[in-house]
Amino acid sequence: MSYDRVRETDPAAADALLAERERQNDTLAMIASENHVSEAVLQAQRSELTNKYAEGYPGARYYGGCEHADTIEQLAIDRAQDLWGADHVNVQPHSGTQANMAVYLSMLDPGDRILSLELEDGGHLSHGHPANFTGQTYEVEQYQVDPETGYIDYEGLRDRAEAFDPDIVVSGYSAYPREVEWERIQAAADAADAYHLADIAHITGLVAAGVHSSPVGVVDFVTGSTHKTIRAGRGGIIMCDEEYADSIDSSVFPGAQGGPLMHNIAGKAVGFAEALEPEFRTYAERVVANAETLADRLQEHGFSLVSGGTDNHLVLVDLRDSHPDTTGKEAEEALEEVGVVLNANTVPGETRSAFNPSGIRIGTPALTTRGFGERAIREVTDLIARVVDAPDDEETKTEASVRVDELTDEFPLYG
Ligand SMILES: *Cc1c(COP(=O)(O)O)cnc(C)c1O
Repeated sequence: MSYDRVRETDPAAADALLAERERQNDTLAMIASENHVSEAVLQAQRSELTNKYAEGYPGARYYGGCEHADTIEQLAIDRAQDLWGADHVNVQPHSGTQANMAVYLSMLDPGDRILSLELEDGGHLSHGHPANFTGQTYEVEQYQVDPETGYIDYEGLRDRAEAFDPDIVVSGYSAYPREVEWERIQAAADAADAYHLADIAHITGLVAAGVHSSPVGVVDFVTGSTHKTIRAGRGGIIMCDEEYADSIDSSVFPGAQGGPLMHNIAGKAVGFAEALEPEFRTYAERVVANAETLADRLQEHGFSLVSGGTDNHLVLVDLRDSHPDTTGKEAEEALEEVGVVLNANTVPGETRSAFNPSGIRIGTPALTTRGFGERAIREVTDLIARVVDAPDDEETKTEASVRVDELTDEFPLYG
């Protein structure tokens, strides 16, 4: 795929698009929420459907000419039902945040109560943060992870639910390395007579492949992003029982959104078809195995991990014990210089700030897509350790970046 037509019109944009392609090829994406879609998904996403208005749902649109849009959206829905086993699926949310917004709109009134995990402990802005519409529209109380173990404090959550009497309990996280026990959170929601939204944004692919337990059939609403572990291109999705179908659909459109991004829904259809193939299960198993290798090797290098390891696709490093003078941001910046791209992250019991926190979050979904296995992951982990041990040492960084170049050559992206 070249950008020659873009170049004729807009050389500056063409330069940036090409540079981004090269950046992705030449660096190691270890941001836990990122992945690389297939060329098939890329092609679908840049299709002529970007031109099409299709307000409404398959078979019931407000515009003419929607027959092919209908086919695409129905394919995405049918495949999502096969992947996650939900009664009802809405594939129109523009992103994970919009998916959550539609659930809140559908089930809550302004001033109603949300109980969710603290952002610092691994939650998400769209779960009630004061800077987000959720924090401004609803009353929010938060639960925590156990500061000793790093696991969700399920008993604390149950007590908090009893005391706060929430209308909805939110589970599903952005920086939580352990398997979530959906049933225990559901029991707390039941006891408080609250709805339960499980936001599986990060782990959609792991759940679809059966390498993480599924909240579908346990909780009332499941939301997700489609661009993280599921590799279906940028977007969101909502799943629920039939009894909530009409309410959810009308909250997405016309409640929260206008015309659906049909080109992105085409990406979802194609990405979901890929995820139904047996190879996808192998991929998801490798993502988890690679995260275990990463976790074990980091610990061999003396790093402390929140919860002491991982069950999923990410690890959360708490630098305070092993590297008290290095902040997460400093580690992130030194690693970016050598071509390892990840993000600084808050850790439970954070003593610095959200902008310059004490941890780094590291994920394996994107490298696993490139073909990285145990040997290459160990090698990347060794590079990370060397750079974080000496973030200002130019010689170390030069050596590391040479090795990153060799690895990116060995595992090229997009042919
Ligand atoms: C990534 C993420 C989302 C979705 O975010 P968008 O950027 O809006 O797609 C929602 N919830 C959680 C827990 C996430 O990690």
